[in-house]
Amino acid sequence: MNAEIIAVGSEMLTPFRQDTNSLYMTEKLNGLGVSVAFKTIVGDKRTHLVSVIRHALGRADIVLISGGLGPTEDDLTREAVAEALGRKLIRDADLIAHLYTRAAARRVSLTRNNEKQADTVEGAVILENARGTAPGQWLDIVVGKYRKLVMMLPGPPAELKPMFDEQCLPLLQDALPKRAIATRVLKAAMIGESACDARIAPIYTQYPDVETTILAHLGDIQLNLSCTKPLQAQAKLRVDELAGRIEEELDDVLYSSQGETLEQIVLYYLGMHGSTLAVAESCTGGLIAARLTDIPGSSRSFAGGAVVYSNELKTKFAGADADLIARHGAVSAEVAAAMAEGIRRECGTDYGLAVTGVAGPGGGSDEKPVGLVYFAVSDKEATETLEKRFTGDRTRVRTLASQQALDLIRRRLM
Ligand code: ATP
Ligand code: MG
Repeated sequence: MNAEIIAVGSEMLTPFRQDTNSLYMTEKLNGLGVSVAFKTIVGDKRTHLVSVIRHALGRADIVLISGGLGPTEDDLTREAVAEALGRKLIRDADLIAHLYTRAAARRVSLTRNNEKQADTVEGAVILENARGTAPGQWLDIVVGKYRKLVMMLPGPPAELKPMFDEQCLPLLQDALPKRAIATRVLKAAMIGESACDARIAPIYTQYPDVETTILAHLGDIQLNLSCTKPLQAQAKLRVDELAGRIEEELDDVLYSSQGETLEQIVLYYLGMHGSTLAVAESCTGGLIAARLTDIPGSSRSFAGGAVVYSNELKTKFAGADADLIARHGAVSAEVAAAMAEGIRRECGTDYGLAVTGVAGPGGGSDEKPVGLVYFAVSDKEATETLEKRFTGDRTRVRTLASQQALDLIRRRLM
């Protein structure tokens, strides 16, 4: 079963308002094993609405329409659905009475145009709206040869969310064939999306019953596996089997097999070893510390550290010798190593992690271009350094550097 969500409202075709209702409903639909195949945003124009609804009915099993159920001239969803389906609009006397009772209870008077909120498409089930006046509607109908579920929901998120959760989800659950869904999230660091796909496509294409999607974001790859079967155990078996084979293939670049973040994994391994970490950050300016301290309970393993942006502070707080900096430059493997060793010593931790680089856009040279970053991790046995050349703007370089630094310590810990 696939769905189409139609967000109705001209304001969402401007730069000022965004359709968030569809995101909310998509998450819940996915939880039921329904994937959203199409999303459409359409302005408050009747002919456009009718055209979009007809298209949706032609290509999706479930059509969810949000907005345009209010009392004003530009609220046209009811009329458009009736026209697209060739069904009558019937003014529901009980609903009119309910509208007037509700208004009286709130001591407001109703203008005549409010009555159109009592118009129901022939055959629709009314969805009560406890938070507003416009009721929603649910249709379970046959169009051509096919069964279609059509939902009309109010636009304001505060009204749509409870109506969707409390009324549409149970109706959907009953209407859908009984199936179970199993999902897994795997994550890999510092590997390109195409490089990753080249390695795993030969594997996941052997599992056509498991949906595999790849999301890539600045040094982080997320693989979403999802499988729907009549029984939960069957779905889980397939997802776990594919996850196991991907884990084997991606081996050391894979850091999480249950959706954890990279910083959670680093803290997990530090905790497991009973070890502590301190960081000395130059170009990342505290990003690494921020990511680690974002995790509740991080104080058990993360001691802290220093943002050592100037050469003076690299010496003063991270123990990097001034002569060493003068000889090799602040952006060098030697200085990164000295910073990692120094911060470990100064903070009395088991591990020291350091980053120094050129984030740009200025400050680069032929020898030390923008994007050049050195990393070091140090423990009492050894200090290891890494050189990377990132491309892109300042934000990208800094984010990638924080990701690479966390991945470096993760590899040392695993
Ligand atoms: P009302 O009775 O308030 O007029 P309605 O069902 O007619 O309800 P709209 O007029 O289309 O809904 O939208 C009302 C408000 O709800 C919009 O101004 C907007 O703030 C919000 N809204 C509408 N659609 C969405 C959407 N898809 N995502 C997020 N917010 C939305
Ligand atoms: Mg409206």
